[in-house]
Amino acid sequence: MGKTESQRKKKVPLFGIIQGATYKELRRECTQRILDLKFAGYGLGGLMIGEPSLLTNEMVQICTGLIPKNKMRYLMGCGYPEDILESVEQGIDLFDCVLPTRNGRTGMAFTSQGKVVIKAGKYAEEDAPLDKNCHCYTCRNFSRAYIRHLFNTGEILAGRLVSYHNIHFYMELMTGIRKSIDQGNFLQFKKKTGKNFDFREG
Ligand SMILES: [Zn+2]
Repeated sequence: MGKTESQRKKKVPLFGIIQGATYKELRRECTQRILDLKFAGYGLGGLMIGEPSLLTNEMVQICTGLIPKNKMRYLMGCGYPEDILESVEQGIDLFDCVLPTRNGRTGMAFTSQGKVVIKAGKYAEEDAPLDKNCHCYTCRNFSRAYIRHLFNTGEILAGRLVSYHNIHFYMELMTGIRKSIDQGNFLQFKKKTGKNFDFREG
């Protein structure tokens, strides 16, 4: 028998969203007031929209310092791998972002060696895959030169292949983060994995 609308709603965790821009006092007050409403988890909104990283970290620390440890914390719009690693260190559990596919569609690949802008002329004859350490469908089957050719000839497959790789890259990153937390060596993982990350724009 199908579930009723109210039965379905009961199973969906509802998150409260904490605002306050980059004002410390407003962040504290908003966090406290949203906590008083007792949600299953808490989203940090109004961040990752171009403010300096130091301010983001400061605001995240204020919020995560107040949210109970057994409640999920979600940093809205956080998507650069280096920002994800930083935020996990500060106690963030959940992320969402358009970057893997938006950048995939325009030819930017996230790789273990850093950013690869596949339309660049230097890849015109390169037989190597997007990421030599990746085992995704794209990297197992296509060279950088071929993917670049697809972009230059306006083939829609180009954006699909890079997006596929990017999503795989993020899945592997998150799996690695979870595993390192379980094994108690997240900080070593962060240092080793993040050393080649240069994805942030500007
Ligand atoms: Zn790949």
